[in-house]
Amino acid sequence: MQQLVDEINERARAKFGTGRVADYIPALAEQNANKFGIAVCTNDGQVYAAGDARDAFSVQSIAKVFLLTLSLRVYQDTLWERVGLNPSGMPFNSLTQLEAERGKPRNPFINAGAIVVADRLVSAFATPSKHIRDVARRLSGNESILIDARVLESEWQHRSRNAAMAYLMKAFGNIDNDVDQVLHSYFSCCSLAMSCVDLAIALNYLAADGHAQAMGEQFIAADLARRINSIMFTCGMYDAAGDFAYRVGLPAKSGVGGGIIAIVPGKMTVCAWSPALDENGNSVAAQYALELLANEMGCEFGR
Ligand code: GLU
Repeated sequence: MQQLVDEINERARAKFGTGRVADYIPALAEQNANKFGIAVCTNDGQVYAAGDARDAFSVQSIAKVFLLTLSLRVYQDTLWERVGLNPSGMPFNSLTQLEAERGKPRNPFINAGAIVVADRLVSAFATPSKHIRDVARRLSGNESILIDARVLESEWQHRSRNAAMAYLMKAFGNIDNDVDQVLHSYFSCCSLAMSCVDLAIALNYLAADGHAQAMGEQFIAADLARRINSIMFTCGMYDAAGDFAYRVGLPAKSGVGGGIIAIVPGKMTVCAWSPALDENGNSVAAQYALELLANEMGCEFGR
């Protein structure tokens, strides 16, 4: 496995120069595009890493997996009264669908959906962002994980579109709490800084029937892990979930920081990261790396 990740690290770097780093906030626009890291965490606790796998980066939308998991732990299936379960077929920050569907977002991995999920956590926890940061620390076994204050401030300054979604949903009665408080919690989670190694370990519970290896405990029920994987498979890669499912065949969640976490159920998690994105907002080199790995290992969802 170490040989394989070393080889993927070499080959993925050939993609440098393709794609563009996210530029909707200054804190992300300044990222070095010529970075690549990959980490594999097997269900028996082995970690294999190559390249910049220990550099912390902005998890961005990968945080939606933590938000969803924690919310489902509290609300179980009643969460689906607030948010749907289907691919949106619209950009991740679309407002038109939200208006047409009376403030119920299509799924928890588009922004509106994650904001609703964050609202549920604001109802359940006194300090939801601190709670999520602490859970990320315990799941990864890395006590030094932080919320990047600069990214958070940048998100906050450029919040207009997310705020528009949140107010629209509030008008439809789908947000219970103060909009600023909900947005702040959502942005705080997006601003978590974690490495490929941190994320591969932290999200391994999705490959291991809900068992979190760094905590040494059952974090969520096995059927819940299976369901989250299904949502990742259908909705985790922005508007390219179908393409990614065809090319890679694994549940995955991508973020505009350039990270992608992929789950090989029953076996392992893989996190790849490289900041330059394609037109769908998915990292060019990270997608390529996951495709190489899936081809090499012959792994696919459910097998
Ligand atoms: N913080 C970003 C936003 O809400 C998340 C973008 C992403 O990774 O999809 O706009």
